[in-house]
Amino acid sequence: MKRDTRLIHKGRAHGPDGLVNPAIKRASTVLAPSSQELYAPTGGRRHYGRGGVSPNAELREAVCDLYEADHCALTSSGLSALILAIRTAVSGPGQALITDSAYGPVRKFCDEELPRLGVKPVYYDPRIGAEIAGLINSETRMILLESPGSLTFEVQDVPAIAQAAQTAGVPTVIDDTWSAGLLMNPLALGVDYAAQSLTKYVGGHADLLMGSVAARGEAAKELAARERLYGTHASPDDAFLALRGLRTLALRLERSAQTSLDLARRLRDHPKVARILHPALDDHADHALFRRDFSGSSGCFAFILNGVDAKGGEAVVDALELFGIGFSWGGYESLALPCDRQIVRTAMPWQAEGALIRLSAGLEDVEDLWDDLARALG
Ligand SMILES: *Cc1c(COP(=O)(O)O)cnc(C)c1O
Repeated sequence: MKRDTRLIHKGRAHGPDGLVNPAIKRASTVLAPSSQELYAPTGGRRHYGRGGVSPNAELREAVCDLYEADHCALTSSGLSALILAIRTAVSGPGQALITDSAYGPVRKFCDEELPRLGVKPVYYDPRIGAEIAGLINSETRMILLESPGSLTFEVQDVPAIAQAAQTAGVPTVIDDTWSAGLLMNPLALGVDYAAQSLTKYVGGHADLLMGSVAARGEAAKELAARERLYGTHASPDDAFLALRGLRTLALRLERSAQTSLDLARRLRDHPKVARILHPALDDHADHALFRRDFSGSSGCFAFILNGVDAKGGEAVVDALELFGIGFSWGGYESLALPCDRQIVRTAMPWQAEGALIRLSAGLEDVEDLWDDLARALG
């Protein structure tokens, strides 16, 4: 079956009640008929709720299918998914190679927690490609990718980095929240652990926090073991909403991408705008990589103002009426975020002509969104 069909039909509990959707089952204790059955359950039955009952099992199945993975862990947030993936990948003291474009809170985890495990974070230029081989040594314990980068939208050469890592026997982790696991399959490109924030496009309605990690083969076994060791759990109510979001994911992404491209092209022609950071635009520096590795675009991108400082950028955002001002993205509502206070770079200095504003295109009419942007820029 084609992907869009599988998105609709995977993870459906075809129970005797005939309901289209799985029921939300809340459980800590799951009673066993005997002591024997409690300690040696048969028939795949669980006797404790931490592993997730329903619809967690259905959501796992659907996300596994999305990535063609052997195991999918569900966590209480995207950040905890990334941390689970990193903790699974990293073993023993040494160094970890982290993309300089990594999502801020993940970077903070790498800076503050990895050293406590004896692992030194070493940041690399997201556009390093195959040359990452020159940074890998016997101490390298993990490589973290994020493509495209959260605020600055560099597309990484994922297969080249994964290949160099595989050659050296180093595990790789990617944050692929932007593609929602739908527009690119990092596992098919050779990455070991694909983590995403389901909070964003999969949830899609700004009403839940959840994350997933998907893996194949040996990595999947490692992931399942770490998931149990770290007591990972996700709420069944949130799993229900994420599963509901997954059903309309392809449709919402398509619309959001279309609107974002339309806005990006109009912004490109605006005299107050210096540059657009949208991988699906043909003049983006990494457009060829994007075309090679992604089957489509999502709707989150950024633009740089021409000679307007961070304070001026915030004034533009404050003048917007239809766009909400806020973190996150991928919801049905459009959002704007002034980014300059958040950008941290150590491998490569961040250079721009002015303030950076990130937009997440929602499902409103594009003409209304453009009117709002044009007026705020004016
Ligand atoms: C939001 C986000 C996260 C963290 O996800 P939460 O669900 O908010 O914890 C991680 N990576 C990226 C790229 C994100 O946009």
